[in-house]
Amino acid sequence: MGTLLLSIDFEDWHQLVHRRLGRADWNRPHPAFAPQVNAVLDLLDELDARATFFFLGMTVENYPELVAEAVARGHEPASHGYAHVRVHEQTREEFRRDLERSVDVIERATGSRPTAYRAPAFSINRQTPWAYDEVVAAGFRSDSSQYDSPRVPDRIDGIPDDPYRLRVAGGELWELPVATWGPLPIGGGSYWRLLPARVIEHGLRDLSVLYFHPYEFAPAPLRAELPASPTPRQRATASARALWRNSGRGLVASRLRQIARSHRLVSYDQAHADIVRHHGSRSRSLSEGGVLV
Ligand SMILES: [Zn+2]
Repeated sequence: MGTLLLSIDFEDWHQLVHRRLGRADWNRPHPAFAPQVNAVLDLLDELDARATFFFLGMTVENYPELVAEAVARGHEPASHGYAHVRVHEQTREEFRRDLERSVDVIERATGSRPTAYRAPAFSINRQTPWAYDEVVAAGFRSDSSQYDSPRVPDRIDGIPDDPYRLRVAGGELWELPVATWGPLPIGGGSYWRLLPARVIEHGLRDLSVLYFHPYEFAPAPLRAELPASPTPRQRATASARALWRNSGRGLVASRLRQIARSHRLVSYDQAHADIVRHHGSRSRSLSEGGVLV
């Protein structure tokens, strides 16, 4: 029976889309979020699965009780940063502050310090190799910000299929990239709704990383609320987001049930000793040009 590493990005879809659409009240917590989180927690209990939850700091502040509930049910608290701004849209100093703020908020809500980090939208790329130095300096043991998907712009070249040790100026960390199979980014919920189940199952390896969002598990469809007098561009953005996120929604839960019959689904910390044993012999570093060597 193979082992898969399960990760959930704990963020409020409506809030993030409303910010992008320029709504003045984007920061208001959305009532759809709690049912989404409860749906994923119940499914994980049903499958006897544990996950690493990448908590977004600003979402933690809105829902400390849901965060505590996830941890009480055995899931690992990890950091998804504070404000969900792409790393390459921040200065190094801004990135450091965002990281520190997320750690403080998560530590307060869970009582423990996160040891894994994931950048918003997998945005540690060729423009921001310094981000790794900051992640190591902030005390993280592992990172999961690489995904060799065509939707991630300017990504680092040569990302392996398996976990790897990454040497940086101030030390070292484990990079746990989200699973790909050839050109197919099979590790993400977005693709689980589009690809045939047998393709996904065939492409997964032992210790492959999967990633999902709470909104992929609740039955209610997602609908962004437009600002008053929206521009045609805002209307188009809202429709495109809803169309992309709503197609094939129920499939994610049913496919996870199917995969769970032949795999153990575990959190990063549960798998750490196995990762070190299987992949610890070789380390890599990042060249000036953003290539892993
Ligand atoms: Zn995110």
